[in-house]
Amino acid sequence: MSSIKKGRFIAFEGIDGSGKSTQIRMLADKLRSEGINCYETREPTDSPIGSLVHNIMTGRITADNRAVTALFAADRIDHLTNSVNGIAAQIDKGVTVLTDRYYFSSYAYHSVDIDMDWVIGCNRVSADILKPDVTIYVDIPVKTALERISAGRAFTELYETEERLTKVRENYFKAFEKLSGSENIEIVDGTGTVGEIFERICDIYNAL
Ligand code: ADP
Repeated sequence: MSSIKKGRFIAFEGIDGSGKSTQIRMLADKLRSEGINCYETREPTDSPIGSLVHNIMTGRITADNRAVTALFAADRIDHLTNSVNGIAAQIDKGVTVLTDRYYFSSYAYHSVDIDMDWVIGCNRVSADILKPDVTIYVDIPVKTALERISAGRAFTELYETEERLTKVRENYFKAFEKLSGSENIEIVDGTGTVGEIFERICDIYNAL
C-alpha cells in the first residue's frame, strides 16, 4: 500500500508591506499550474478566535499584552488543528500549505512589549505540532514598507508605525538567530521587482 506523500508547509514572514501576500499568490498560481494541490491561508485567521485578534489589532478591543499574545497562540493552534480546514490535516492529505504569517510573527511583533523567550514558550504547542518546511522572510527596509502601505491602503493598522516596524524587523532577526538550529529559515531580499523577488522564492521552493 503506498502512503500519501505529505504536502509542503511554507510560512511567509515579513513586516507589513513587505510583499508577502503578492508572492504567496504568485507561488500558489504557479504550483497549481503544475498540478500541485495548494492552500493559501493567513494569520490571524477568520475563525472566532481570529476575529477577537482582529478586533484587538484595529483597537476595537484592548487587552493586556500577554493576553493578546496568548490569543494569537490560540488562533494558531486552531489554525493547525481545526476540523474544517486545519493545516495539519491538509498537510497529511498531501496539500501544500502557504501561510501568510506563522509563529515568527508572534516572536517579532509581541516581543516589542514582552520577553521573547516567553512568547516562544507560549507558542510551543504549535512548534511541536508543525514546523514549516521553510520560513521565508521577505526583507525590505522599513521606509520602503511604509511607502508601499501608504500608497496602497486607505488606513494603517495599529502596528504600522516606523518606530514599531523597526523594532519588529530587529526582532525577526533576533528570533532567527535564536532558533537557527531548529528551524529552516530563508531570508529573501524583498527589494526589486515583483518578478525578481518571485525568482528568488522559486529557487528556495525548488531546493526543498
Ligand atoms: P504584505 O502582504 O507583506 O503586507 P503586499 O503583498 O500586500 O505585502 O504588498 C504591499 C503593497 O506593496 C501592495 O500594494 C503591493 O502591490 C505592493 N508591492 C508588492 N511587492 C512589490 C514590489 N516588489 N515592488 C513594489 N511594490 C510592491
